[in-house]
Order: sequence, then C-alpha cells, then structure tokens
Amino acid sequence: MTARIIDGEAVASKIREQVKTDVEQMVKSHGFPPGLATVLVGDNPASQQYVRMKQNRCKKVGIASFGHNLPADTGQEEVENLVRELGENPKVHGILVQLPLPGHLDEEAVLNAIPLYKDIDGFHPVNIGRLAMKGRKPLFIPCTPAGVIRLLEEVGAQFEGAEAVVLGRSNIVGMPVAMLLIHRNATVTVCHSRTKELPEVCRRADILVTAVGRPQMVKADWIKSGAYVIDVGSNRIDDPESEKGYRWVGDVDFDAAKEVAGAITPSPGGVGPMTIAGLLQNTLHAAKLAIERGATPL
Ligand code: NDP
Repeated sequence: MTARIIDGEAVASKIREQVKTDVEQMVKSHGFPPGLATVLVGDNPASQQYVRMKQNRCKKVGIASFGHNLPADTGQEEVENLVRELGENPKVHGILVQLPLPGHLDEEAVLNAIPLYKDIDGFHPVNIGRLAMKGRKPLFIPCTPAGVIRLLEEVGAQFEGAEAVVLGRSNIVGMPVAMLLIHRNATVTVCHSRTKELPEVCRRADILVTAVGRPQMVKADWIKSGAYVIDVGSNRIDDPESEKGYRWVGDVDFDAAKEVAGAITPSPGGVGPMTIAGLLQNTLHAAKLAIERGATPL
C-alpha cells in the first residue's frame, strides 16, 4: 500500500486565498485591514526568519503588519509595556510574541500581557484553559494544532471513536493537539520521553501525530496499516550531498512509512505551511471580534 500524500502547501494556499478575499471585503465594508503586530526580542536567526515569513504572508493577503524588533538585552518591563501598548492600539488586532524569548525574560508574564481578544497564537493561559475544558470555547486555537486537525479533515479522517496517539506533550503542539482530538471524540494517548514501549503504543493508532523533534525516529513498523500520520516535526540533519550541507526532515521515516500508512504528511511541505495560514486566519478573526466590540481604528 502506498499512502496518500497530504499536501499541506495546497491546503494552506486555499486558506490564504480565502483570507485574502475576506480581507478585501473587510476593507470595503469597514475601511481598514486586519493588523498583526510582531514582537521579536534578540537576534536569533531562525526567529528572525519566522517573523519575516509571517510578515511577508500578511502582506500578500492584505493584512497590515507592525514589526517590533527589540535588542536581546531588553528588560522585562519594557517588553511587557510594549505588549500592553499594542494591546491598546486599535490598528493592531493580533499580537504575536515570537518564542522562545531570551532566557532572562519571563515568557508567561509577557504572554499574559496580551489581551485575550488579541491572542492570535492562542497561547494565553485562559485560551488554553478553555481549550482544555468541556463545553468551553477559546477565542483562538493555536495555529499548528489547528493545522493538524484541518489536514486530517481534508483527507476524511474519522475522529469519532478512533484511537489517536500524539507523540509529544508541549504546550504549543502536543497538548493542544490532544485536546482538539478529544473534542472530536477520539480516544487519545499522549506519549512523551518517559513513555514505555513507544512503538507498540504507536501501532495502535488510527491517527498518529508526531511532535517530538527527533529526526526520523518513527519507523514504518511503528505504524498501523492504513493509519493517518501527521508529522509536525521539523528537524535539520547533515547532508553532505546537498548544496547547503543539510536538509530538513520530520519525526517520521517518511519514505518507509508511506508504504504502510493510509495518508501521511511530508515534512517539509505538510504542517509547516498550515501554521502560517492559521495565523492569518486568526488575525482576520481577531479583526472581526474587534468590529463586533466596536473597537475599530476609525
Ligand atoms: P518540545 O521540545 O517542546 O516537545 C517535544 C516533546 O517530545 C516533549 O513532550 C518530549 O517529552 C517528547 N519527546 C522528546 N524525545 C522523545 C522520545 N525519544 N520519545 C518520546 N517522546 C519524546 O517540541 P515542540 O512541541 O515545540 O516541537 C516538536 C517538533 O515540532 C519540533 O521538531 C519542532 O521543530 C516542530 N514544530 C513544527 C511546527 C510547524 O509549524 N511545522 C511548529 C512547532 C513545532 P517530555 O515532555 O517528556 O520532554
């Protein structure tokens, strides 16, 4: 059996087109575009690149972006004050603090300074708390986990009663993915670095989501025949044969796994593009919430 390859770029492109249309409509009806503020502290090249990519994507769909780049030694108060100012700026509908912050900063306090209705990353403790509670709805769902679910929906995965296994329990991927799967009535097992008999647990999965950060750790014989496999992992490995001397791979041994799985995402080209598309959707949603609240910039 050769798996269906889930093309995250194609799905993300559909989402971006829809956001672009909705943004044009918003500008026509209300006279302003959604606005995203990014806060980057320090000069970590990967973070700088992520922020640039997010800003470029905003531009392409008509979302205004407001970039704030602060030196690595910026103090806690200054970062929090900036976030609070952005919280009050009516042109800014979403605030993205690029993580990780430099070690001397209290990340939770900074995230707490983002008003709930501008928390487009969905990392505010109240939004995460609501996600964890039955019958409650967060204002925003974190972008990568939302992208995982959307890709599963795109390929017709059945959630109800399915055995789902999530590898990884981080705040930004593993745990929210698990919660979203539970909301869809899957039976969910969350695995982590202390889980025993990992291959055996994975083999039970009708839906397997990997968010570990270990290159090609998940082997073909860990996968149940016909399973849906979503590989969130994005890992750089040495590759002397490539021009750059390295390449990116997921947490799953893709070439072998695609012979067993029913549908599988490549990495890169699977979940990655969905994360930024989700950010655009959440920023648009934040602008709609502002209109509902009457908090418009004009
Ligand atoms: P974290 O490092 O925060 O979490 C990794 C999780 O994997 C932890 O829960 C850890 O367990 C678990 N883990 C580590 N080693 C093992 C092991 N050998 N066996 C079982 N579980 C293990 O990572 P993130 O959640 O932030 O990211 C995970 C991956 O997803 C990374 O490759 C990252 O680059 C990628 N990513 C991709 C995104 C995208 O847009 N495509 C967005 C975000 C992340 P424990 O809790 O016990 O330490």
